[in-house]
Amino acid sequence: MAATGQVLAGTSERTDAGYTGVLPDERWAEEVRHLARERDAVLLAHNYQLPEIQDVADHTGDSLALSRIAAESSASTIVFCGVHFMAETAKILSPDKTVLIPDERAGCSLADSITAEQLREWKAQHPGAVVVSYVNTTADVKAETDICCTSSNAVDVVRSIPADREVLFCPDQFLGAHVRRATGRENLHVWAGECHVHAGINGPELASRAAENPDADLFIHPECGCATSALYLAGEGTLPEERVKILSTGGMLDAARETGAKSVLVATEVGMLHQLRRAAPEIDFRAVNDRASCRYMKMITPAALLRCLRDGADEVDVPADVAERARGSVERMIAIGKPGGGE
Ligand code: SF4
Repeated sequence: MAATGQVLAGTSERTDAGYTGVLPDERWAEEVRHLARERDAVLLAHNYQLPEIQDVADHTGDSLALSRIAAESSASTIVFCGVHFMAETAKILSPDKTVLIPDERAGCSLADSITAEQLREWKAQHPGAVVVSYVNTTADVKAETDICCTSSNAVDVVRSIPADREVLFCPDQFLGAHVRRATGRENLHVWAGECHVHAGINGPELASRAAENPDADLFIHPECGCATSALYLAGEGTLPEERVKILSTGGMLDAARETGAKSVLVATEVGMLHQLRRAAPEIDFRAVNDRASCRYMKMITPAALLRCLRDGADEVDVPADVAERARGSVERMIAIGKPGGGE
């Protein structure tokens, strides 16, 4: 084993698209694991990360499951290979641990679609309303939120709110439309935010891929622009209802192990295919849109991870008062149960 600081796997170069210059070979993986041990760090990778990052991590999963694993881990440092709001959520749930993200520029177009200031203005227009926010939000927005939700439990969270209370649901309009349809609730107001990757997976594309693959199951993330049309097409018989499954990323892995289908069309970010293929290698998984790749997720490169572990950067901090209020909204969600997986 090389001494700490000795360059084995290459040198990271910073570019606008991320850190580059390191090949993810066995030497790299060895150095990553060695440096993580030295830092007493647990390595977490979101399901949308590059395959080599997923493979070198201690745990792979959805954002909330990873934050909860991090909180229970005895490691003093969390390295979160995902986007910035996910690392913030880990810090909110583990305020005494050091939280690092390999590239702090890894943002999220969905989390950026509402600011705390905008949410405060929306609340002022609906006094007494209950604010439900998807976990894809910044710590500042979570601090202004009554109850967080994931795509697995969004319907249960909204059902837990008395029927006569107005609900403000943010930031994802497709998940909000799914919740409104499932609860039949008319006093649910939905913020018009979206993720540019998921919104790009549309209904016509899904319908034509489904027609080309008549025996395939359809696994659809509720943030997808096609989620609404998938349910509509199932309702009118264009797609067999039993083949359409609206699932969080964690739910997709469970469904992959249980489905009897030989092929599955997957409507979410393409990084998810790696975990699905590992979970059920006998199934032919195909992306509905193989261009659905999140450039923020892919900023966590092998070079970025190496730099992070060598330099202890970038550190993610959340002011204590914001973290405390944000933690309340996450804990109220966990108390309702079935948090399952977010993105
Ligand atoms: S896929 Fe969309 S929601 Fe997920 S991190 Fe990327 S921009 Fe955000």
